[in-house]
Amino acid sequence: MITSQHQTLLQRICDERHEVLQYDIRTKGLCTWYWPLEEGGHRVTPSALRERRMTYKFTGPCCLCPNATPDEGHYTEAATLIAIEGPCSGEYVAMCAKGSCGYLVYLERIFAAFFVKSKQYDRREPGDLRPATVFHFSEVELDNAFRRRQSGTEHSDSTN
Ligand SMILES: [Zn+2]
Repeated sequence: MITSQHQTLLQRICDERHEVLQYDIRTKGLCTWYWPLEEGGHRVTPSALRERRMTYKFTGPCCLCPNATPDEGHYTEAATLIAIEGPCSGEYVAMCAKGSCGYLVYLERIFAAFFVKSKQYDRREPGDLRPATVFHFSEVELDNAFRRRQSGTEHSDSTN
């Protein structure tokens, strides 16, 4: 349920310019998602975050889904992608993967700030499990449409 408390959290997340805020399931409030740093100390670019997550020990920020549905209160990773609509269209954002809790962080705007709360994460070991990529539901729909087209092509190929 979207309460006024939920709206307040969303507003704070959206307005924040010096850190990525995420939901903290323990305190039921917001906490910092530390922006990953390159070895040289530069912040990882928004476009590289998704790939970087595979080789370094971090995941995307937790969206507000656990706040909206406390019974399923587990870490719900937001998707990192280029927004295809809305006021941030064409920009890298972190969004609720299911599009249900309204979580939205303007990653590029925070990335561009002079100071951002960030840290260096450890590299994943070669044998470590890699986290599955978190897709936004809009991407999954695009991907399904693409696959449908592909399977159509394969079908016509096999008749040759
Ligand atoms: Zn969510």
